[in-house]
Amino acid sequence: MESDMSGMGFSTALIHGGVHEDGGTGSVNVPIYQTSTYAQENIGGTPKWEYSRTGNPTRAALESLIVDLEHGTAGFAFASGLAAETAVLSLFESGDHILLSENVYGGTFRLMDKVFKHFGVTFSLADTTNPKAFEAAFTPQTKAILIESPANPLLTVTDIEATAKIAHEHGATVIVDNTFMTPYLQRPLDLGADIVLHSATKYLGGHSDLVAGLVVVRDAALAGRLAFIQNSTGGVLAPFDSFLLIRGIRTLAVRMDRHTENAEKIARHLAAHPAVKKVYYPGLETAQGHDVQKKQARNGGAMVSFELAPDRDIRKFFPALHVVTLAESLGGVESLVCHPATMTHAAIPKETREAVGITDGLIRLSVGIEDADDLIRDIDDAIRETEAR
Ligand SMILES: *Cc1c(COP(=O)(O)O)cnc(C)c1O
Repeated sequence: MESDMSGMGFSTALIHGGVHEDGGTGSVNVPIYQTSTYAQENIGGTPKWEYSRTGNPTRAALESLIVDLEHGTAGFAFASGLAAETAVLSLFESGDHILLSENVYGGTFRLMDKVFKHFGVTFSLADTTNPKAFEAAFTPQTKAILIESPANPLLTVTDIEATAKIAHEHGATVIVDNTFMTPYLQRPLDLGADIVLHSATKYLGGHSDLVAGLVVVRDAALAGRLAFIQNSTGGVLAPFDSFLLIRGIRTLAVRMDRHTENAEKIARHLAAHPAVKKVYYPGLETAQGHDVQKKQARNGGAMVSFELAPDRDIRKFFPALHVVTLAESLGGVESLVCHPATMTHAAIPKETREAVGITDGLIRLSVGIEDADDLIRDIDDAIRETEAR
């Protein structure tokens, strides 16, 4: 079934987008082509399907679906978000320099710092919320910028359109990690990005039951290079996981609506809580970048970070939770909480971490789709436990 999603709403594209080969059965769902290879007619031909690292119909259905959702022309599915990033970073070579936004995901920092640096690809961190400071960070070797907005874990908002414009003036490729927003809330390619990345492990999968990564581009030359890298380095997503991810994506819009409705309620509740020193949520009118967020995204998303007042004992908070689970990751239907300083951002040196505001008192919530009242009660009960006795 070939799709033409132009003119269709996003929720329709979620259900009917992409291209799915049904093998002649009329199967409504994308079949799982659990095969490594495909029979060929004769030697010397150019078969459409040849070997499942190179291409697999289930993975291809997913890849064409994410293309429709992100308004791209080519998509690539990988075994994890970091495998997707590894493929993207493999576009660069020794001597190239990459600018990362300051609050970048810890694993992205580690991949640059401990892997690509050894291949001679250098990097530096830049404050992408301040265009002047950001522009000053470019060097003649800067070939790309890699940004997140809102960025992990302080939900710092970067003006993607303005940033992409500056980067393009310097001849740099613009890479946006859109994991926190998903294409339902924000579409970076429409804002001028060249490459969109996802840890599909998070909202796209949505059920905390798989690890996957996606890349979407518009430019044909870039698409060709990424197809070559995907096949050459081989970190592809398996057929079964591709199926699961398609299944998760179908309900993205309805899930995100509930996620963000709950997140807004919780953010407002925490902002008025006497034991909370600061709330980070781009949907709040008082938040850094709120106006930019309103301009470039549908709403503030469903990640809420907050800092308890300094007289509170943060170690008593986590074990006191009963509905919210202490765990790495985010974006699933269940609410998760993490302590960035010791968990997601532990790979970043303490001085670097604190300099950008990721203090030991910071708590990050991935707000799920439970009843908001139950979540608020659970968080309030746990905050009460942190009181000095
Ligand atoms: C989780 C995450 C990644 C890494 O993705 P994996 O699927 O865990 O490999 C990259 N970027 C962001 C923003 C993430 O949250």
